[in-house]
Amino acid sequence: AKSAGGNRFELADAEADARAITRHGLTTALPTALDRGEFFIEYQPLVHLGDGSVRGAEALVRWLHPQHGVLGPDRFIPLAEHTGLIVPLGRWVLEQSVRQAKEWRERHAGTATAPLRINVNLSPCQLTHPGLVQDTVDILETAGVDPDALCLEVTESALIGADDDLLKPLRRLAEMGVDIALDDFGTGYSNLANLRRLPVSVLKLDRSFTQSMQQFPADPVDLKIVDGIVSLAHSLNLAVTVEGVETGAQAEQLRILGCDTAQGWYYARPGPPERLHELAMADASG
Ligand code: C2E
Ligand code: CA
Ligand code: CA
Ligand code: CA
Repeated sequence: AKSAGGNRFELADAEADARAITRHGLTTALPTALDRGEFFIEYQPLVHLGDGSVRGAEALVRWLHPQHGVLGPDRFIPLAEHTGLIVPLGRWVLEQSVRQAKEWRERHAGTATAPLRINVNLSPCQLTHPGLVQDTVDILETAGVDPDALCLEVTESALIGADDDLLKPLRRLAEMGVDIALDDFGTGYSNLANLRRLPVSVLKLDRSFTQSMQQFPADPVDLKIVDGIVSLAHSLNLAVTVEGVETGAQAEQLRILGCDTAQGWYYARPGPPERLHELAMADASG
């Protein structure tokens, strides 16, 4: 028993060491990864719940690390925020995504697809960076993309207790026609009445709400909660997007509850830009 306990301890210890070494290694490799072209973006479709058509995509960044393979954003975004790399990385993601949206829109011109829109995540560090508005304007102008094609996703927690200085750049972007979405909505503790003050036009309901719709019919209390949020959002002229839709039952219940747009593995996993193009075209032709 003694040696088993000892082994367990050593194993846990070794794992903690390995994690710390990896974290250290990743932090060291991060600043040059952007120059070396090791980041890439996957796109996940945003689907209209009413008619099932692809309306756009969310850009999700990945790091193709030379030793560790493909790393998800949860592994490196916090490090990038800590080291400040998130500002140039975020700008790069925005630039690539906007250019990609331009390409899709050009290829789909004259087809039955609605012009695709692009959603890009903004870190709280980018919100406080003074270049945000100008960088965004420049990127849209250079690519020749209408601000209406862009939606910036900001987490609810980043805006809780936000003062006017923080909201000013978002307001300017919203006035230009850029949509602002409140991401992971329902996980923070924001006062619902507070929503009126924020320049947002989309609520992205957190995946936990979608998970509560796994049973058909879902728990009546869960249904009432989502129903209440959707009604409130619509009364404030906000569109509702749901994330993490993995089954048809979830999609159907969320559609009945009046949610507008859905995203999740049920429709498609995040993938290369060509895949998004194919999904949008397939759906326009049949
Ligand atoms: P998020 O913005 O909430 O993005 C949704 C996450 O849910 C993505 O994880 C996506 O792959 C995953 N997902 C999509 N559909 C399903 C589903 O049906 N079931 C489940 N279980 N998961 C699903 P991912 O790509 O690992 O991204 C994680 C987080 O990293 C994102 O959460 C976002 O906060 C952040 N992130 C991703 N790209 C960027 C970026 O370019 N900039 C910044 N600042 N953050 C980013
Ligand atoms: Ca997001
Ligand atoms: Ca708009
Ligand atoms: Ca989210």
